Amino acid sequence: EARAWQAELRAQFPIVTAHPDLAYLDSAATSQKPRAVLEAVETYLTTSNANAGRGTYPWANRTTELVERTRARVKEFLGDTRSPHSTVHFTSGTTEGLRMIARDWLVPRLRDGDEILVPFADHRANLDPWLEAARLSAERGAEVRVRALPRQEPSGDYDHRALAALVGPRTRFLAATHVHHVFGGDMNVHRLRAAVGPGVPICLDAAQSVGHLPVRVDAPDLDVDFLVFSGHKAMALPGTGAVWARNTRGPALRPEGWQGTPNTVGIVSLLAALDWLQEAGPARIARHVGRLTTRLTDRLGRLAPYEILGCPASLTADSRLPPAQRRHGIVTFRHRDIPADDLGFILYGHGFMVRADTLCQAGAEKDGGSVRVSLHVHNTEEEVDRLLAVLDSLG
Ligand code: PMP
Repeated sequence: EARAWQAELRAQFPIVTAHPDLAYLDSAATSQKPRAVLEAVETYLTTSNANAGRGTYPWANRTTELVERTRARVKEFLGDTRSPHSTVHFTSGTTEGLRMIARDWLVPRLRDGDEILVPFADHRANLDPWLEAARLSAERGAEVRVRALPRQEPSGDYDHRALAALVGPRTRFLAATHVHHVFGGDMNVHRLRAAVGPGVPICLDAAQSVGHLPVRVDAPDLDVDFLVFSGHKAMALPGTGAVWARNTRGPALRPEGWQGTPNTVGIVSLLAALDWLQEAGPARIARHVGRLTTRLTDRLGRLAPYEILGCPASLTADSRLPPAQRRHGIVTFRHRDIPADDLGFILYGHGFMVRADTLCQAGAEKDGGSVRVSLHVHNTEEEVDRLLAVLDSLG
């Protein structure tokens, strides 16, 4: 039954079914788009394309209505059912969303002697805006101390005990990542609120979790103030993303509204994408992707020339990983002798599209790169097994 369900969903990705000899294993970079999203875009552009937030004619009103409906859909999709002051702001992706929070919300609140806690080994998009915020504060004469969010080795998860010891009366902000884009693990974020206490605003980079697993901001273990994601990694068009703000700790991020012409086509695609994901079921998607990830991790972990990043050998052989070490569709590895970019080209020669470089990881520039396989609902066990056979044959 699970197989039939997956086959039916896979058949809904035109680019996937058009290329049976290729396997797209780079969904963490951006997702492929189901037909429903392509159709929603075409319908919008051929029936009601206009600008939003103004207008005295039906196309403009329809555009405005679609943007507002998408905003409501984002809240609903994120399980926001009881946050009366929450707002949603459309962006081009996670990078712009995090920058918006840094520039519009954090910078004006920082005072001399304040401290912020930020991740130094996650995606650069979740480090640079906070370093920039501290720099801008320093220019105004307010020295802000930037501290690294402590991590556990070798899994890379946040160390909530060490974190609790770092939090003090001047801790003003914490930026964290939900699912790591290199290790693929859930970063222990359900322990962050307890570690920092009730007063510290938490901003979560959910680029690799929204669209892959259920993410619910009203769940007690996800008590965050800002949640940022990339629409384009969640089946919507490139150039889409959103910031969700709870707006209960401190003033609101900014009003919802019209600051110039929004990416209406992208927003329409996001509405269709979230409808599609909801219908498919994020929990079911997570189970399918989780099964493939475990299969890949377990078997790759037994191939001697490969080292899986952020995963101790004793765990790779064990499919009953504790939740914090469970991978959500991302497995990153190196070959003992073959450089990462060569391995990427070799794999493409066999029809596999993977990411092969330093993966935008802060601090990874010196490490020589790695290969990342990232999976989504259209991927199959057969693709994983073919990939493993090729990797094994490289010896
Ligand atoms: N954060 C994480 C964890 C990511 O994986 C990515 C995408 N690689 C980003 C931020 C940046 O997202 P975007 O390209 O949508 O700006």
